[in-house]
Amino acid sequence: MDNLYARVVVDLWAPGIGDRYFHYLIPSKYISQVREGTRVMVPFGNRKLLGFVMGFDSTPDVDKVKEIISVVDQIPLLTRELLDLARWISSFYISPLVEVLKAILPNFYATTIKAKEITVVKLAVSDEEAGKYAAVNRKRAPRQSRILDILLKGGEMSLKDLLNLSQAGRQSVKALQGKNLLDLSNKRVIRGPFEDKLFGLNPRLKLNPKQEEVLTGIKNHLQRGLSGNILLHGVTGSGKTEIYLQVIEEVVKGGKEALVLVPEISLTPQMVKWFRGRFGSLVTVLHSRLSQGERYDQWCRIRQGEIKIVIGPRSAVFAPFSNLGIIIIDEEHETTYKQEESPRYDARDAAKRRSCFFSCPVVLGSATPSVEAYYRAQEGEDMLLSIRDRVEKRPLPPVEVIDLKEEINRGNRTLFSKKLYESIKITLQKKQQVILFLNRRGFATFLVCRECGYVLRCSHCSITLTYHANQELLKCHYCHQEKGVPEACPGCGGNYIRFLGLGTQRVEKGVRDLFPQARILRMDVDATTRKGSHLDIFKTFQRGDADILIGTQMIAKGFDFPRVTLVGVILADTALNLPDFRAGERTFQLLTQVAGRTGRSSLGGKVIVQTFNPEHYSIMAAKKHDYQAFYQEELRLREQFQYPPYNQLVRVGFSSVSENNLSQKAGEFKGMLMESLKGIKAEVLGPCPCPLSKIRGRYRWHLVIKSKDFSGIHRASRQVWEEFYKGSRNKDFRVILDINPINML
Ligand code: ADP
Ligand code: ZN
Repeated sequence: MDNLYARVVVDLWAPGIGDRYFHYLIPSKYISQVREGTRVMVPFGNRKLLGFVMGFDSTPDVDKVKEIISVVDQIPLLTRELLDLARWISSFYISPLVEVLKAILPNFYATTIKAKEITVVKLAVSDEEAGKYAAVNRKRAPRQSRILDILLKGGEMSLKDLLNLSQAGRQSVKALQGKNLLDLSNKRVIRGPFEDKLFGLNPRLKLNPKQEEVLTGIKNHLQRGLSGNILLHGVTGSGKTEIYLQVIEEVVKGGKEALVLVPEISLTPQMVKWFRGRFGSLVTVLHSRLSQGERYDQWCRIRQGEIKIVIGPRSAVFAPFSNLGIIIIDEEHETTYKQEESPRYDARDAAKRRSCFFSCPVVLGSATPSVEAYYRAQEGEDMLLSIRDRVEKRPLPPVEVIDLKEEINRGNRTLFSKKLYESIKITLQKKQQVILFLNRRGFATFLVCRECGYVLRCSHCSITLTYHANQELLKCHYCHQEKGVPEACPGCGGNYIRFLGLGTQRVEKGVRDLFPQARILRMDVDATTRKGSHLDIFKTFQRGDADILIGTQMIAKGFDFPRVTLVGVILADTALNLPDFRAGERTFQLLTQVAGRTGRSSLGGKVIVQTFNPEHYSIMAAKKHDYQAFYQEELRLREQFQYPPYNQLVRVGFSSVSENNLSQKAGEFKGMLMESLKGIKAEVLGPCPCPLSKIRGRYRWHLVIKSKDFSGIHRASRQVWEEFYKGSRNKDFRVILDINPINML
């Protein structure tokens, strides 16, 4: 017989395992159940491990083959297409296949979860007959009579509800069943996240001509069955969501399915509201906050074609559709689409891959496309559709930039410029709301001249040098260049050069001191660790039960607060001077997004940005809402310093609980890497400590490889990584590879 041997990946990670197939004999009783994508239990050494069937062979690799112990799934949870995607992610991102399978199937370990069934009860006889029996037996068998009364009134119901309502026991039900008065049967119930929620209708809007044009563009793509990316560059409030809804209507009409990705779980509820309001129960969500049962049931419904639209964050890209018609990636530029732990995949790449398989487009929507995406569109690789105006020509809010150097010259050393202070005061008097924004990562301290705004950068890497107070040194966290702190500012010769760093708590205290009557909310990682508190804060603010919301990145995205008429950015420089080559891009995106939080209603609105660097191109472009100006300058810098899109990167991270040997190990790795890179045109920066030099007790170093020869550096880094791991006995020391890294900190 053919195909008697299953190729299984087992759930065990060690270099070389977890990535490899092992052959197992399929016992004849399981032959019909074991498919590609089925989970099985297998013996491994003297253990019993969970494994995934990836394929079949008629002859085994080894002589002594063990047997599969048991089969977990009746129907495989993964499609063949998803298995292929898993293999691709595993090889592209250099992650063990088993890790990738776990990322794709969030219920990987839930081997006991099954479809949920309940017992339902209904009358097996006519109402008349049941009524008669109830009446006759009211004295002798009151409980049985009550059961019949309830069913006569309520019709079919679950056994559990029936017992509760009648206060009767199972034996009463049994007695009635024995007399053929009742019918008991099993019924499947679907565990879902929306059971008790009602969604208001979201009627279709008439598109304006610009939206119509974009819709036609996407429909053309659909009709021709083209795969690949469509970049939808539309300013904040240009009505992209309505376009998504109408494209998807078309897709669903054609019998196909749609996937909608959002950057964070916290942004799913409002997207769900729009989509459920339009498409009802054809819509579901997939994310990590569902219970295991809910996830299992939703997964199966998608798999069986009952669901046509899935909304969710990064991992929802793996929804097990088998007839995908479109993938929408909203806020395409967000870094959360890349996973920061293994497997370090990018959902945008996974989406593109799936789109090729299904010959369907990926729509990347953003008001501030990533430089890489816009570049691809400029080069003609991706299609570009743009909307430059908000719907109904609502104006984009005016952005005023305040030069903090001038404030200091005027003797104002508080966190609030005169302008911002007065604007808050007026807004509060008008009973409108204020958002104050500060970049979360205020950890990296950098030096700034408070007279001319000069910031010290690495001449080689162009990133901001980080100030290390204990050694009084400035360091580049890409190439390890070190510098003493200059006595005078290299820009203006002045000597008021100081470091900057600021937290939301300090801002909160500052606001409380200045506006003791105002009701203030703070939203940052500290304030939102409790589950649900994030949403609580939002709801409180949306209801108007607070006047000022102070927060980090989290408040910049997606939300609609009609009564917010003032957005203040306390210090744009914290984002601008992150030791990351994308700092300029992040700043432009952040300022544009926060500006998008205001002026969304007839009340209007404005933005005030405080900075020591008002002339910086990111800030000037954000002030004018001018993506092109930002993009041109950013691209020029990327070319000058040979960052993406001109080169591709591989980042190698080293970490350990002890600082000893970390630099030496990283140095050894580099030595082997240089050897392996011979003949390949590539540049290696580092090794050096990461900007975040210690996380959760582990010290961190990194090095960065830059090259146009992607397959060359991919191959070399993989080879060295594997060799390095094989030779390493030290369990605590870890080396990770990050292909096309987004997080450089
Ligand atoms: P974006 O996602 O591009 O930032 P939204 O989709 O949030 O923009 O749209 C902004 C607002 O404009 C929403 O309140 C939406 O309901 C409204 N809107 C969208 N399209 C239209 C239209 N054709 N006519 C009237 N209002 C529209
Ligand atoms: Zn450098």
